[in-house]
Amino acid sequence: GYRSRAAFKLLEIDDQYRLLRPGQRIVDLGAAPGGWSQVAAQRVEAVSGGGKVVAVDLLEMEPVSGVDFAVMDFNDETAVPRISAMMGGRADGVMSDMAANATGHKKTDHLRIMGLVELAYEFARGMLAPRGFFLAKVLQGGTEGDLLAALKRDFTLVKHVKPKASRADSSELYVLATGFRGAPPPSGE
Ligand code: SAM
Repeated sequence: GYRSRAAFKLLEIDDQYRLLRPGQRIVDLGAAPGGWSQVAAQRVEAVSGGGKVVAVDLLEMEPVSGVDFAVMDFNDETAVPRISAMMGGRADGVMSDMAANATGHKKTDHLRIMGLVELAYEFARGMLAPRGFFLAKVLQGGTEGDLLAALKRDFTLVKHVKPKASRADSSELYVLATGFRGAPPPSGE
């Protein structure tokens, strides 16, 4: 069985958009307790078919077969080099289900989750192989402004998705960007 209800959200999104394929290399940010990692490891065939899943979280998690896991704070400046080293090359997909604990202060909560999304997106931009995907939890209202413009610049398709399995978490939504156009040139932005 799956360890979290979140697993059913990823299954639903993947059944619709066919993101995860055998042999792919995937990063799972905010992975504990491991539902998305379980789904990803199965669908990329991480145990038997040459796929790879690298997962990180602030919290410990029970091992998932086929998944390389490490405890870390993604906000820490050492996180990106550590994850890159674990992956050892480009990724076909970067997924983030990270959510900061709610403070109850609406504006602070919004800034904190959008900060995590922006950081995850900057990371994805440096990690993804051409045609790769980025999937991240955002709040109702979705990505806007500079982040949305940047996603539209870097990917061929950008949409917001709300899986049925997520209806109870009313303010939760995912941004999905597919068809990464490739690593940007080193300068000249
Ligand atoms: N996708 C997971 C699953 O299927 O089991 C559920 C993820 S849960 C909704 C969100 C996770 O994000 C929590 O486990 C939390 O510890 C993690 N998280 C929040 N902020 C983080 C950070 N700065 N660095 C790493 N993980 C973080």
